Amino acid sequence: MYKKLPFWQNWAKNVQCNPSSIEHPETEGAVIEIIKNAAATSKRVRVAGNGHSFTELDSTSETMLQLDKLQGLLEINSEKSTAKAWAGSSIKNLNQQLFDKGYNLINLGDIDVQSIAGSTATGTHGTGLRFGNISSQMSAFTLATADGQLLECSKDKNPEIFNAGRVSLGSLGIITQMTMDVVPAYKLEYVAKKSKLSKTLDNLEEYIASNRNFEFYWFPYTQTVQNKFSNETDKPVKDPAWLKYINQHIMENGFFGLLCGIGSTFNTSYWPLAKIIGAGATSESKINHSHLIYATPREVRFKEMEYNIPIEHFKEAMQRIVKKIHDEHYRVYFPIECRFVKGDDIWLSPSYGRDSAYLAFHVDNRTPHNPYFKDIENILMEYGGRPHWGKMHTRKADTLSGAYPMWEQFHEIRKKLDPNGMFLNDYLRAMFSQT
Ligand SMILES: Cc1cc2nc3c(=O)[nH]c(=O)nc-3n(C[C@H](O)[C@H](O)[C@H](O)COP(=O)(O)OP(=O)(O)OC[C@H]3O[C@@H](n4cnc5c(N)ncnc54)[C@H](O)[C@@H]3O)c2cc1C
Repeated sequence: MYKKLPFWQNWAKNVQCNPSSIEHPETEGAVIEIIKNAAATSKRVRVAGNGHSFTELDSTSETMLQLDKLQGLLEINSEKSTAKAWAGSSIKNLNQQLFDKGYNLINLGDIDVQSIAGSTATGTHGTGLRFGNISSQMSAFTLATADGQLLECSKDKNPEIFNAGRVSLGSLGIITQMTMDVVPAYKLEYVAKKSKLSKTLDNLEEYIASNRNFEFYWFPYTQTVQNKFSNETDKPVKDPAWLKYINQHIMENGFFGLLCGIGSTFNTSYWPLAKIIGAGATSESKINHSHLIYATPREVRFKEMEYNIPIEHFKEAMQRIVKKIHDEHYRVYFPIECRFVKGDDIWLSPSYGRDSAYLAFHVDNRTPHNPYFKDIENILMEYGGRPHWGKMHTRKADTLSGAYPMWEQFHEIRKKLDPNGMFLNDYLRAMFSQT
C-alpha cells in the first residue's frame, strides 16, 4: 500500500499514509482555491506541518496541504513587540530571521524543526513557570475557512475563534499567517548537572522559582537525574562547536542510538542499558543566543507520550510512576522528561486554567510502547491529566470533554466554521466522536 505515490510519513515513522495529492500552495489565494475545489467536490483537506507529531493528526487519503512554501517573517511591530510570519515557517528559519533583526521568541521547546503553525496547533511548549506554551505567545492569526474566506482573529477580532483557534489541531481551518509576541534578542547560560531524584524533588520549588527555565530528566532503574537550568546572561558566547558535537551528536545521539539498537534487539537488555545511560548523563555548561540553546538535534527516532497535570500533583504522581516502573519492569531506558509551564486561557490548551507539570515518556520507535504508556496514562488521568495533542494517548471525547471546561464551546465553533467536517480526518473524527 505505502509504495504507491504520493507517500507521506511522520518523523517517528509510526504514521504513514497515501494522500490523493500533496499540495504546496505558494499564496493565500492558492490555499483558498484548494479549499473551494474540495468544497465543490465534497472532498476533505488535511493541513500538515513538518510531521513531528506522533499521532495520526496529519494522516489522510484525500488532499494533504503543506505550507512549506509560505515561509518567513512578514513584519515586525517594535512598539507592540510582535512579529507577523507565514504560518508554514519552520521555527528555525523564523528564529534566524528574528535574530537578524534583534529579536527572539519568548520561550521554546527542545527542537526547532517544526513549523510555527504546527507547533501552536498542538500546544507545543518548553519549560519555565513564567512562560506559557508557544500558542500563548500568539496574539493574532489569519484563518482560511471552509467557505473560502480569510478571517482575521485576535482578542479584539473574532475573539471566540481566537480562543478556540490557538490550539485547534488543524480542525477549524488553515492558518496562513500568525503574529507572535517577541522580545529583544537574549542569551542563555545553560547548566546541566547530575543529581539524585530525591534531592531534586526536595528542591523543586526553589529550582523552578529561581531559574528562568528548569527541567529535569530522571533515568529509570536508577536514582539519577540530570537537572537543566537556563538563565539570561550578558556574558560572552561560550559554546565551542567541537564540544557541542561531542555532547549532542556523539553522546546524546550516536552513543545513545547504539544503545537503543541493542535495546530494541535484545528484550532483556533494558535494565542494564538504563543504568549505562544514567551513568553517561553529562554535566555541562554553555552560553549562547537563546534560540541556539533551546534547539537540540534528535537523531534517534522514538515514540512519545506526554501528559500535563496540575503542578501541585507533580511530586506525588512522579513518585508513583517511579514505583510503577520499578515494580513492573517495563522495557524502558529513555529518561522521563519533566517540565513546568504557566497556565493559560486557550480552550484546548493542556495548560488551560492551571500552572502545569509535563511528564514525557519515550521508547525507541522499534519497541512496543504498551503496556508502559497505557499504565502511566491511567495514573496521570487520576490527577486530571491532559495529553499533549501531538503525542501518543488513547483519549477520546468521552474522557476529554470532562478534562477541558471549554470542550463544548470549542466544538460549537468548529461545527459553525466547518459544518461538513472538511478539515477532519478519521483520527480527529474518532477522537472528537463526530460522525
Ligand atoms: C524530536 C521531537 C521533539 C519534540 N519536542 C517537543 C518539545 O520540546 N515540546 C513540545 O511541546 N512538543 C515537542 N514535540 C512535539 C511537536 O512539537 C508537536 O507535535 C508539533 O505539533 C509538531 O509540529 P509540526 O510542524 O511537525 O506539525 P505536524 O505534526 O505536522 O502537525 C501538527 C498539527 O498542526 C496542524 N497544522 C499544521 N499546520 C497548520 C496550519 N497552517 N493551520 C492549521 N493547523 C495546522 C496539523 O493539522 C496537525 O493537527 C517534539 C516532537 C519531536 C518529534
